[in-house]
Amino acid sequence: MTKIIKVEQDMSVLREAAQALREGKLVALPTETVYGLGASAFCEEAVHNTFKAKGRPQDNPLIVHVSDREMLSLVVKQIPPEAELLMKHFWPGPLTMIMEKADCISHTVTAGLDTVAVRMPSHPVARALIEMSGVPVTAPSANLSGSPSTTRAEHVIADLTGRVDYIIDGGASEVGLESTVLDLTGEVPQILRPGGISLKQLQTYLPQTTYEPALKGENTTPKSPGMKYRHYAPQADLFLVEGDFVKKVEPRLEEAKKSGRRVGLLCQNRQELAADFHIAIGATLEDYARNLFDSLRKMDELGADIIFAQLPAEDDGIAAALKNRLRKAAGGHVL
Ligand code: AMP
Ligand code: MG
Repeated sequence: MTKIIKVEQDMSVLREAAQALREGKLVALPTETVYGLGASAFCEEAVHNTFKAKGRPQDNPLIVHVSDREMLSLVVKQIPPEAELLMKHFWPGPLTMIMEKADCISHTVTAGLDTVAVRMPSHPVARALIEMSGVPVTAPSANLSGSPSTTRAEHVIADLTGRVDYIIDGGASEVGLESTVLDLTGEVPQILRPGGISLKQLQTYLPQTTYEPALKGENTTPKSPGMKYRHYAPQADLFLVEGDFVKKVEPRLEEAKKSGRRVGLLCQNRQELAADFHIAIGATLEDYARNLFDSLRKMDELGADIIFAQLPAEDDGIAAALKNRLRKAAGGHVL
C-alpha cells in the first residue's frame, strides 16, 4: 500500500517516512528539480527495488542525494577542489557532480561504474527527509521509465501508486527539469546533461567546462548511460516547431482533422489556430521549463493524439535544458 503524506510547514510529519527510508522502503519525495523516487543508498535491496518500480534499465546509474557535506564525504572517495568550489556557489541546488565513488556505494547504485553522481537538493522537504533518515538517498525521477518526469505529487500518484511505500506531497517543483549533470572525473569538467544550472554559470567558476561531444551534436555515444534512452515521452505523437508556428502547423491541422485526430498546441502564448486543445505554457522560458512535464501529461489526459510544441529559439540559461528535454520527448521530430 502507498501512503501519501502532505507537508506544509511542519516537517515532523516526515518522521515516519524517514524511518521507513532508513529501513529500506521506497519514498517518493519532492525536490526543486522534479519529484524523486527515494531509497537508502546503503540498502542494496531498496536500490534494486527503485529500478523495478520505475521499470528503469539496469545500466542507468542513480543520483545520490545528500543533505550536508558530511554525508557527501561518505559517498565519494575524495572531494576534488573543483567540487569544493562549485558546492560553495551552487549547492544546495540543481547541480549533480560525478566523482569517484566510495567503497560503501554499491555498483547497483552506479550501474557498475566506479564513479558516483551526487547532488544536494535545495527543496526544504527533500533536505529535511534526507537529514532525518540519516542516510544518503538515491532518487531517480519518480515516473515510470520513459514517460514525462513528475513535477507534482498528482503525477507521482498516477505513475507509482502501489509501487512505492510513501509519496510525500510538497507542492509543485520550482525548476521543473532535472539537474545539470557535470562530470568531474575527466581532464576538463564536462556537462553530460544540461539542467537547472547553465554552462555559462559553471564557466564563471570553471572556465574550461564544456558540453560532452554527444550533446554538441557530434555523433558519439553519450557518456551518461541515461542519455541514450527515449525519455519524457507523452502518449500522443509530439512534434516540435521551430520558427513560424502558425505557418508550419496550419497545414498539419488540416491533415489531422481529415483523419479525425485530435490536436493539442503547447506554446508560450496562445496561438490563433483551430486546434482541439491549447496550453499557453508561460511567458518566460523558466515558466516553460517549470510547466513542460505537467503540460505533456495534461495533453495525454485531455486525449490529444498529436501535440505541436514550440521550440524556443534561445540557447542560454534554462533554454539548453528545456530544448534537450523537448527534443528527447519528441524523439527528434522537428518541423
Ligand atoms: P535521473 O536520475 O533519471 O534524473 O538520471 C540521472 C542521470 O545521471 C542519468 O542520465 C544517468 O545516466 C546520469 N548518471 C548518474 N550517475 C552517473 C555516472 N556515475 N556517470 C555518468 N552519468 C551518470
Ligand atoms: Mg528520469
